[in-house]
Amino acid sequence: MRKITGLFHFCLLVLSLSLSISQLSHAQELSAATDGQRPADATPQTQEYAGPVQLFDNFYYVGTTFVSAYLLVTDEGLILFDSLYNEFTAQLLQSVQELGFEPDDVKYVLITHGHNDHAGGSEEVREVSGARIAMSSADWAMLDQEVDLVFEDGDSLTLGDTTIKFYITPGHTPGVLSMQFPVRDGDEAHQAFLFGGHNVTSRVAENFEWFIDSVQRLQRDLPSDIAVNLTSHPWGALIFQRAEMLIQRQPGQPHPFVDQEDFVAFLNERLKNARQRLAALPNP
Ligand SMILES: [Zn+2]
Repeated sequence: MRKITGLFHFCLLVLSLSLSISQLSHAQELSAATDGQRPADATPQTQEYAGPVQLFDNFYYVGTTFVSAYLLVTDEGLILFDSLYNEFTAQLLQSVQELGFEPDDVKYVLITHGHNDHAGGSEEVREVSGARIAMSSADWAMLDQEVDLVFEDGDSLTLGDTTIKFYITPGHTPGVLSMQFPVRDGDEAHQAFLFGGHNVTSRVAENFEWFIDSVQRLQRDLPSDIAVNLTSHPWGALIFQRAEMLIQRQPGQPHPFVDQEDFVAFLNERLKNARQRLAALPNP
């Protein structure tokens, strides 16, 4: 019954999105549209909790209409990616329970970057669950919070049957933590990549230069089999639109989140976007 209620709310949410599914006829259009998808700036008051939505057998969206959070299930507990604004922590923890888990099953909270919409609820999640909170050292330095776990470029974390590999991708913040990990669809496993900060929100040239370097580094160093694009805000990877396609999926059809070419197109589009915006900045 809880699942049905969640699905109902999710369907309402999808209906409320202005973008029609009929516009999304193929993958190129999905990624080419990304930057234009960004809604007006949002506060806790202008977004709603939108989870849980199952994306893979071991992976759920547990974020809001504006900010992503994800839950990864391993055979030794749960890993939460981002903790949202503190205003949503109670709903986030409730959705963990709706999925049949307990809050203290959450072993790690991996924070993509130190902004409040991603890290705001982390201390409350730790108090309730006992989970370790992880971030890069550069982004821990942004917070008035006791440092817990630090991950840097090239580090990895293994919990039970699942390993997460970390990349530091500066630009959005100095220490954006991006992550690669496997998700499962039936008998198949796919490599997913969560770009922890896929845009530059300042008008500082150096931040664009960092971001461009980060994207080029990912294009150079990421394995070629990344097939699932995830972002720290849902419009970046069209999470809700793809989730709606997943609901409509018939047996034997491909999984709408699995698309290697689209991930390549996404990185190309991010690079082009950053270069254009850098070129348009006024000269110092
Ligand atoms: Zn941010």
